[in-house]
Amino acid sequence: MFDNLSDRLGNVFDRLKGRGALSEQDVRDAMREIRVALLEADVALPVVRRFIDAVTEKAIGQDVLKSVTPGQQVVKIVDDELVAMLGGGEDADPKDRELNFAAKPPVVIMMVGLQGSGKTTTTAKLGRLIKQKHGKKALMASLDVNRPAAQEQLKVLGEQVEVATLPIVEGQQPVDIARRAMESAKLQAADVLLLDTAGRLHVDEALMAEMKAIASVSAPTEVLLVVDSLTGQDAVNVAQSFTGEVPLTGVVLTRMDGDARGGAALSMRYVTGKPIKFAGTGEKLDAIEAFDPKRVAGRILG
Ligand code: GDP
Repeated sequence: MFDNLSDRLGNVFDRLKGRGALSEQDVRDAMREIRVALLEADVALPVVRRFIDAVTEKAIGQDVLKSVTPGQQVVKIVDDELVAMLGGGEDADPKDRELNFAAKPPVVIMMVGLQGSGKTTTTAKLGRLIKQKHGKKALMASLDVNRPAAQEQLKVLGEQVEVATLPIVEGQQPVDIARRAMESAKLQAADVLLLDTAGRLHVDEALMAEMKAIASVSAPTEVLLVVDSLTGQDAVNVAQSFTGEVPLTGVVLTRMDGDARGGAALSMRYVTGKPIKFAGTGEKLDAIEAFDPKRVAGRILG
C-alpha cells in the first residue's frame, strides 16, 4: 500500500528527470501515476481532475517537450500548480495568511468545526499569538455547552497563555454567551474577541443553525473552520458542509505534525474557496504556524 504521496511522486519525478526527450505519451503516463498517487493520498476526486488537467495542458501545450530538459520542466509545472492550488501562487494575496483585524474593536474571530478537530486548542493558540505577536488585548469565550468541561478547558488554556476568558455561567445557551462575551469585550476594551463555538460529532442542522445564530449576533470579521488534517477526505466533506452555511473566511488545518500526506491541504482550498490561514503543528500552545503553501507542496513532492 502506498500511503505516502511524496514517495510515490518522487518515483515518477525521478523517472521524468532522468529522461532526455519526452513524448506526449510519457507525460500522460506520468500524469496517470500522479493521479493514482493523489487519490491514494485522499485528495478529493474533482481536485485531482482539475490538477491533472491543468498540469497536462501546460506540459503538452507549451514547448516543454522540445526543450533540453523536458522532464525537469514537467516537474516544475507540477510543483508550481501544487503551490498555486495550496494558495501560494503569484496572484495569491499575502493577507490570506494573516488574521484580519480591520474592523471596529472588538474584532470577533469565530472558530467553528467538529468535536475533536482541535478547535479549543487552536483558539488558545490564536489567543496567545494575538497577544504576543500582535500586542493586542484578547478575550476568549467558550460557547461549547455540548462537550462536558469544554468551557473549563478553555479557561485552563487561557491561564496558560495568559489571555482572559469569559467567566462561566452555568446553564447559559450559546447565543446568550456570545452576547455576554460581546458586552464583556467592549467593557474591557478588548481588541479581539475569540469565540470558541461548540462542535458536534457530525455536521447536522442543529449545529449549522447554532453557528448562523452566533454569527448573526456577533458579526465576526473572521470565521475560521478548524479541521483535522489526519481525517483526509472526511475533513474535506466537513469543509464542504460548512461552506455556504456559515460565512467562512479561512481554514486552520490541525495535526499537520502527523500528516505525511498533505491530501486534505490540497483539497481544502479548492472545496471551500477560502485560504488555509494556519497549520497546527503540535499539542503545545505555541505549535501554530502561518500556512506555507511552498513548504507543504515541497513535502507532498518529497
Ligand atoms: P475540540 O473538541 O475541537 O475543541 O478539540 P481540542 O482542542 O480539545 O483538541 C483535541 C485534541 O487534539 C487535544 O488533545 C489537542 O491537544 C490535540 N491537538 C489539537 N491541535 C493539534 C495539533 O495541531 N497537533 C497535534 N498533534 N495535536 C493537536
